[in-house]
Amino acid sequence: MFTKFLLTVAVVAVIWFGFRAIQRRAERRDQAVRPPTGAGKRFTPEMDGDSVRDLVKCPICNTWRPAGAASCGRSECPN
Ligand SMILES: [Zn+2]
Repeated sequence: MFTKFLLTVAVVAVIWFGFRAIQRRAERRDQAVRPPTGAGKRFTPEMDGDSVRDLVKCPICNTWRPAGAASCGRSECPN
């Protein structure tokens, strides 16, 4: 009877530790894939405003494009 109880506890412990090991490995893999947050990720517009452009909505194809950009390819497109 006591050995049965011990066996049950051992099986539960093995499953528990195995699950934790798998979870830890998956966490480590996620951290490896994900680049470190922050550090040079922020967009800083140039002071001359050249890197910031207003977008113009094309009434034909409903896409937002920078003014003066190449045509979207449709013949009716006013851009
Ligand atoms: Zn267009």
